[in-house]
Amino acid sequence: MRYISTRGQAPALNFEDVLLAGLASDGGLYVPENLPRFTVEEIASWAGLPYHELAFRVMRPFVAGCIADADFKRILEETYGVFAHKAVAPLTQLGANEWVLELFQGPTLAFKDFALQLLGRLLDHVLTRRNERVVIMGATSGDTGSAAIEGCKACDNVDIFIMHPHNRVSEVQRRQMTTILGENIHNIAIEGNFDDCQEMVKASFADQGFLKGTRLVAVNSINWARIMAQIVYYFHAALQLGAPHRSVAFSVPTGNFGDIFAGYLARNMGLPVNQLIVATNRNDILHRFMSGNRYDKDTLHPSLSPSMDIMVSSNFERLLFDLHGRNGLAVSALMDEFKATGKLSVEDDRWTEARRLFDSLAVDDEGTCATIAEVHGETGYLLDPHTAIGVKAARECRRSLALPMVILGTAHPVKFPEAVEKAGIGAAPQLPAHLADLFQRAERCTVLPNDLKAVQAFVGQHGNRGKPL
Ligand SMILES: *Cc1c(COP(=O)(O)O)cnc(C)c1O
Repeated sequence: MRYISTRGQAPALNFEDVLLAGLASDGGLYVPENLPRFTVEEIASWAGLPYHELAFRVMRPFVAGCIADADFKRILEETYGVFAHKAVAPLTQLGANEWVLELFQGPTLAFKDFALQLLGRLLDHVLTRRNERVVIMGATSGDTGSAAIEGCKACDNVDIFIMHPHNRVSEVQRRQMTTILGENIHNIAIEGNFDDCQEMVKASFADQGFLKGTRLVAVNSINWARIMAQIVYYFHAALQLGAPHRSVAFSVPTGNFGDIFAGYLARNMGLPVNQLIVATNRNDILHRFMSGNRYDKDTLHPSLSPSMDIMVSSNFERLLFDLHGRNGLAVSALMDEFKATGKLSVEDDRWTEARRLFDSLAVDDEGTCATIAEVHGETGYLLDPHTAIGVKAARECRRSLALPMVILGTAHPVKFPEAVEKAGIGAAPQLPAHLADLFQRAERCTVLPNDLKAVQAFVGQHGNRGKPL
C-alpha cells in the first residue's frame, strides 16, 4: 500500500515511512492511495471473530508489504490483550435500537488507547528492525498524553516527551500521565495553555536542529496509523448488530475529525453505514460546516468536554481531499485560503455530497449535563460528557428508528468528574480496579516555562534514555 499527501506535492510513501512521518513535506496529511474494498461475503464471514482477529483482516491491506502477517497478528493479539473487557469494545444498549460502543476499557480509559497501544507496538517493531531510535513530542489537553505514554512505555527505541498545560488538566488525567515512570518517559507541565504546548510541538517539527539528527515522530491524529486502528471498531460494532445485511448509523463525539473520519473510511471500505453524526461541543467549527457550509475559525470556548475543545479540526483536510475528487492542488488552494482568512467553504455540489452521509449537532455544557442526567434517570447508566454529546446528537439527528444507532463511548466518566457532578444525579463514578490506587502512586513531572528554547534544551538533555542526545 502506498500513501499520498492531501496536497499532492509530496512523494508517496509506504506504511513504514508514513508511520514515522509527521505532516507530509507539502504540509498535507497522508491518506491511502487506494482504499481496500471488502465484499459483502467477506465481511459476513468475519461475524463472531475475536477483536484482534477482526483487526487483522480489516487492517492487513494497509500494512501489506511492510509488516509480515505473523508479526502483525502477534502485535494485534498483544495490543488488544491489555484491554480490561474480554470483548475489548463491548456494546451496551441504552434504548430501542440505541447502543453505546464502550471504547474506554483500555489502560487509560479513553478510545485513544485503541490506536496508541497499537502505534507504540508498531513503532517498536519497525525501529528494532531498523536499529533506530526516535523522539516523540506531543501536546495534550488530557487524553492523548496518557494514552501515548501507556502505548510507548515499553518501547526501548522511543523517548517520549508529553507537554500538558500546568494546572489545567484534571487530577485523574495528570496522574494517568505522571505516574507512569520510566527513563524514556518525560512529562512536562508548561506554564501556559494547550495551544502554547501545541505550538511548541509544531515549531519543533518545523526546525529539528535541536535533535542532532534523531527523528521526531508524531502521535496526534495526523498520524495515519491512528486513523487506521480506529476503522476496526466500526466493523466490530456493525457486525454485532446485523451488518453487512443491515445498515448501521453512528454518532461520534468529535473534535479533530479523527474518530469520525475512520467511520467514513469504514463505509468506503464496504461497511453499510447509512448515517454519520458529527457531535461537537460549543467549539463547533465542524457543525458550522455540516449545517451551513461554513468552516470558519472561532475563538476557543473551554467546556466540560475538554477533549473536544478545538478551534480547527486537523483531519477535516482528509475529507476535503475526497470531496474534491482527490485533487491535491485544489485542497492546497483551499487550505491556503483558510490560512489567510480563517474561513473556507466548498462548492454546493461538494457540500451536498458530504451531507448525504453526515449530519451534525453542537451541544453546550447545559445540554451535556442534561443528557447525563436524562440517561442516568432512564437506565442508571453513567455517561462521560463527551459520550453524552454523542447521545444527544444521536437523539436529535437520527434518520431512521428502524436501524441501529451506535454512539461511540469515547471515555469513562471517572475521567471527567466535574461534568458528572454538575449533572446533579448524586452518583460519583469509581475508578476501575486497575487504577484503584492511582491517587497513591508516585508522580514524576518537570514544570517548564512557556518557552520553546527551554523545552528543546530539556529534550536535548534527556532524549536518549534520559541522557543527552
Ligand atoms: C480525543 C477525544 C475526542 C475527540 O476525538 P477526535 O479524534 O479529535 O475527533 C472525543 N472524546 C474523547 C474522550 C477524547 O479523548
